[in-house]
Amino acid sequence: MIEVKELKKYFGVVRAVDGVSLAVESGESLGLVGESGSGKSTLARLILKLIEPDSGTINYDGIKNIRKDCQIVFQDPQTSLNPRIRIGEAIGEPMAIHKIVENRKSKIENRIKDLLDMVKLPAEYANRYPHALSGGERQRVGIARALAGEPRFLVLDEPVSSLDVTIQVQILDLLKELKRKLNLTYLFIAHDLSTIGYMCDKIAVMRAGKILEIGTTELILSAPQDPYTRQLLESSPKL
Ligand code: ADP
Ligand code: MG
Repeated sequence: MIEVKELKKYFGVVRAVDGVSLAVESGESLGLVGESGSGKSTLARLILKLIEPDSGTINYDGIKNIRKDCQIVFQDPQTSLNPRIRIGEAIGEPMAIHKIVENRKSKIENRIKDLLDMVKLPAEYANRYPHALSGGERQRVGIARALAGEPRFLVLDEPVSSLDVTIQVQILDLLKELKRKLNLTYLFIAHDLSTIGYMCDKIAVMRAGKILEIGTTELILSAPQDPYTRQLLESSPKL
């Protein structure tokens, strides 16, 4: 679905993404793991065309409109949701932008209800403000919002890193279920291998702007080639 070749993005002397090549196949969940500052979010932003690379190419297959077909869920729904905008409106906004449903109030309200149901939140949450929700509930809203434009590809940029462990598993299971139901393709970013191992079919290990190794989850977890991957494996909590 997405093929990245020799991608580079420097910020001054910081080589955030330094010659990355990888492919995300349709229907898979590719995990991108690496410590903080290794360039994961920059790579994601390049793939979503939120920033331009210094060099290299990205090819999209089966994606017509990147703004609509590719969406992102951020780590911290606290900062990605406007505190003064009600949940329903926050979810409805991308629908209006991408003209997913007719601009009739009843249609939009129904679709918001469906999206809340998809992420297992009660319909009456549409009238609430973000502060009235727990962290896990806010992340569900972040997911509903990402799904509103009917995307095919989702970047999940450390979507459970700020949540309690028990809540983490609930959100991961929801993401798995949605992927299956909606035929989605994921680029799942995390800084620990346990979350990635739980979620992903394939794993790419990133450090200092480079991909150190890439392989099936089974292979990376059972026979990591790079010393850095082994170090990540040893330091990751068991989920
Ligand atoms: P990660 O998501 O793996 O934590 P990032 O992609 O956010 O890593 O950052 C990689 C490196 O690029 C870091 O050193 C970060 O400080 C730097 N960086 C990211 N975005 C910018 C920016 N807009 N301007 C300057 N430096 C940046
Ligand atoms: Mg990041």
